[in-house]
Amino acid sequence: MKPLLQLVDVHRTYQIGESTVHALRGVSLTIERGEFVAFMGASGSGKSSLLHILGLLDNPDKGEFKIMGNNVSSMTEDEQAGLRNNVAGFVFQQFHLLKRMTIVDNVRLPHIYSGLKGDFRQEATERLKLVGLEQRIGHTPNQLSGGEQQRVAIARALIRDPLIIFADEPTGNLDSKNSAEIMKILKGLHDGGKTIIMVTHEHEIAAYAGRVVIMKDGLIVSDERSAEMSHPVDVTRESRFEMHDSRTSSLWQDGRFTGFMAQAFQSILANKMRSFLSVLGIFVGVASVIAMMALGAGAQAAMQEDLKSMGSNMLSIRGGSAKIRGASQGAGAVARFTFKDVEEIASLRTLVKNATGVVNGAGRIVYGNKNWSSQLTGVGFEYGSMRASIPTVGRWFTPEEMQMRDKSAIIGVTVVKELFGGTNPLGKTIKINRINFKVIGISPAKGFSGRHDEDDVVIIPVTTAMYRVLGKDYLSGIFVEVASPAQIDQAKTTISELIRKRHRLKEDDDTFNIRDMTEIQKMLKSTTETMSLLLGSIAAISLLVGGIGIMNIMLVSVTERTREIGLRKAIGARKSDIMLQFLVESVGMTVSGGIIGVLAGIGMSLILATFAGWAVKTSLISILLATTFSALTGIFFGLWPAKKASSLKPVEALRFE
Ligand code: ADP
Ligand code: MG
Repeated sequence: MKPLLQLVDVHRTYQIGESTVHALRGVSLTIERGEFVAFMGASGSGKSSLLHILGLLDNPDKGEFKIMGNNVSSMTEDEQAGLRNNVAGFVFQQFHLLKRMTIVDNVRLPHIYSGLKGDFRQEATERLKLVGLEQRIGHTPNQLSGGEQQRVAIARALIRDPLIIFADEPTGNLDSKNSAEIMKILKGLHDGGKTIIMVTHEHEIAAYAGRVVIMKDGLIVSDERSAEMSHPVDVTRESRFEMHDSRTSSLWQDGRFTGFMAQAFQSILANKMRSFLSVLGIFVGVASVIAMMALGAGAQAAMQEDLKSMGSNMLSIRGGSAKIRGASQGAGAVARFTFKDVEEIASLRTLVKNATGVVNGAGRIVYGNKNWSSQLTGVGFEYGSMRASIPTVGRWFTPEEMQMRDKSAIIGVTVVKELFGGTNPLGKTIKINRINFKVIGISPAKGFSGRHDEDDVVIIPVTTAMYRVLGKDYLSGIFVEVASPAQIDQAKTTISELIRKRHRLKEDDDTFNIRDMTEIQKMLKSTTETMSLLLGSIAAISLLVGGIGIMNIMLVSVTERTREIGLRKAIGARKSDIMLQFLVESVGMTVSGGIIGVLAGIGMSLILATFAGWAVKTSLISILLATTFSALTGIFFGLWPAKKASSLKPVEALRFE
C-alpha cells in the first residue's frame, strides 16, 4: 500500500522584499495511516510551513509531495480545494470561527463547498455533541470561552468526516485545563482511527502523540515513535480521496447559491449604516432618473394629446420668416395673405380638403363691470371642424353670420370664468374693443400648450374681425387641411409655389413659412431624444459614482475579511466560490439600492403629480432598466474586489493580521 503522505526533499522559501527566508530546507518524511504525529521545535523552525504543505494549504517550491501515491504538483488549485474539503479537517491556534454566524452555522460551513445537498444541521449538532457543546447551538463565537471556541473548531473539522486532522498549536491560546480537554478530544479521534498531524511546542501536549518529529531551521533533526499503533485504522474513508473533483452539481442544485445569498444578506445587514451609505449614490441616481423619466414621458404624452386635437394633416401658413419666429411680426418683409389666397389654395382639389383664413389680434372684453384681455381670433366657417372648435355648449357660426360680418362671439372657458363667474354666458352681450357682440357658444376646453392658455380665446367671424374690430385688410395666416397625411410634403411645395407666384416672390424670399404637425412632432421627438440622452448621462454618472462607492466598500470588506477568506479556502472554497460570494454581495447591495431608488422615484413622481400638478407617467421600461443597470453596476464594480479576494493564497490570508 502506498504511504498516506510522503515528502521527498521538500523546500519552501518566502520572499520578503529583498531577503529570502528558507522556511524548509529539504524535508523528507513519510506519514502512515492512523498515525498521531506531533511536530516540535523552536519558533520559526518551519513547523507551520510544513503543516501547511501537508494540509495542501501551501505547495512546495522544490521537492516532491505525494498523497497516497498521487503527486500534488499535478493537481490544480481547485482540485486541492476539493481535496481539503473531502479529506482534511483543520484546527488552528486562533480558532478562525466566523463571528457573525451561530456555532451550528460555523460547524456546517464546510458543507457549502462540498457539493452535497441538504442543510446538515443534524450532522453539525452531532459533532457539537461530540465536543460537549450541544446546548450552545444558537450562540455566536463571541459568547464562548477560548476552550469552547476551539471545540467548535474541532467540530467543524469533523463535519466532513476527514481522513486527516491538521492542528496547528491547537492549545496555544488555552489554559492547561482547556488544553487537556482539547487533547482528550483529539486523542479520542485518533483512537477512532483518524490520522492526526499536530504542531506544538509543549512537551506535555506532544506526549499525546505516538510520534514526535523535532525540527530546527527548516530541517528535521529527530523523528521518534514512542508507541506502537494499538488500534485499527479506519480506511473506509479512503475512497474519499477520489472525490476531490466530485463536485459536479451545479450552483443551484447543491444550494450553494442560496447559501451565498444568505451570507451576503447577513453581511450587508451586519454593517447596516455602511451598506446604506455605500448604496446612497445608486439610490439617488436611480430615484432621480425614474422621477425625471416619468416627468418627461408625462410631458410628452400631454404634448401629443395637444397635437392630436390639432389634427395630423394640418398645415399652418404664416407671414414672416420661419427662422425668426416671434420677431417676425414687424421685422422684415411679411407676406400679406388675402381671401383670394385662401380661395386659390382651397381650389387645389386633389391635395387640399379645406382651407381657412384667420386673423389674430388683441381683444379687450367687457361684461358688466368686469373686463379681461384676451386673444382675439377671427376665423372662417371651416375653422370649427378643422380645428375641433365647434362648441358643445352653444353653437358654431352659420355661413350667413360669416358673410354678414355678424357680431357673434364664441368664448373660451377661461374668458367665461373671468367675466361670468358661475352664470350662463349664452345669449349675453359683451363688448369686444367697445363693440357689442352676442355670445353664442363656449369653445371646447383645450388646456395649456406649454405656458399658453388655449382657453383664453375669443373667436369671431374673420370678416367681422378684419373690417369691424381690428381694422386689418389682410389675414394673419391660413390653415390648410391636406387630403391625406401622405400628401403633406407635396401640398407644402405646391402651396409654396402658388404663394410665391401670386405674391411675385423670389426663390430666396423668406416672407412666409409653412409648418406642419409632423414638423412639430419631429421637434418634439428630437427634444425627447435630447432629454433621454441627458437622463441617460445623469444615470450613467450616478451609477458610476455609486459603483465606485460600492467598489471602495467591497475592497475594504475584502481586507477586513481576509482571514475569513483564508478560512473558507482552507475548508474547501474554490476560487469561483469566493469570487461569487463577493459578487453576490456587491450585486445585492446595488440591486437593493436600485429597488429602493425605484420606489423613491415613483413616490417622487406621484408627489409631483399630486402637489405640483405635473403630468407624470412612470414606465415599466424605466424601472426594468434602472434595476438591470444597478445589477450590472454591482457586477462591474464588484468584479475587481471579488477577484482580489478569490486570488488570495489560503495560508497568507490566514496569517493576515
Ligand atoms: P514555526 O511554525 O515553526 O514557528 P513557520 O513555519 O511559521 O515557523 O515559519 C518558518 C519561517 O518562515 C519563519 O522565519 C517565518 O518568519 C517564515 N515565514 C513563514 N511564513 C511566511 C510568510 N508567509 N512570509 C514570509 N515569511 C514566512
Ligand atoms: Mg507556527
